[in-house]
Amino acid sequence: MRLIFLGAPGAGKGTQAEMICRDFSIVQLSTGDTLRANVRVHTELGAKAKKYMDEGSLVPDQIIIDMIAGELTKPELANGYLLDGFPRTVPQAEALDTLLIDLNQKIDAALVLDVPEEELVGRLTARRTCRTCSKSYHIIYNPPKVAGICDLDGGELYQRDDDKEEPIRHRLQVFHSKTMPLIEYYHSKGMLRTIDGMGKIEDIYKRIFTKK
Ligand code: AMP
Repeated sequence: MRLIFLGAPGAGKGTQAEMICRDFSIVQLSTGDTLRANVRVHTELGAKAKKYMDEGSLVPDQIIIDMIAGELTKPELANGYLLDGFPRTVPQAEALDTLLIDLNQKIDAALVLDVPEEELVGRLTARRTCRTCSKSYHIIYNPPKVAGICDLDGGELYQRDDDKEEPIRHRLQVFHSKTMPLIEYYHSKGMLRTIDGMGKIEDIYKRIFTKK
């Protein structure tokens, strides 16, 4: 199974992606997590990406496309994968189509989690992320068992710099201008599935696999 997860920042892609990947034994490829890992250990890629990430802008397409091209050939992806946060622009989607032809692969579906804008802002400002494994929590609706500590690995939870009010507004604008066109892109290919992203995490998960 190969999936693309579209959806605004804060729509719940990462949370649902983690559950899908666990249950179907496929690999979650989060471009945001990969970039943050590169920033953390000061790679050349991290240095190039950091200023865009800090302000909530997109990292230039070619940097992202080269990064994903390297990931998609990894043997651990043989059972399938879920692209979380990629593609985010039409040029990225077109580049992915070319990569898939070269790899002789097909994507099964592009999933969109639909969540109203005001809810997104609330979710992002309340989000805390594990420094070690990137699992995210909502301080009220999906809190860790012990405040400030990741349930999975005991890592420290922190608030991402781009999960603050100003970068959030900017990220949402970027989503509207650059990523929304992908909804039409995948709709026109008959690959789009829109899922109501409001409600309990488990209910949203069930909706993803309920045929309408
Ligand atoms: P995320 O964790 O998916 O919210 O991504 C965090 C940040 O990483 C974004 O605001 C962008 O700066 C950068 N980023 C992640 N994925 C992409 C992508 N596909 N294209 C461009 N920038 C990206």
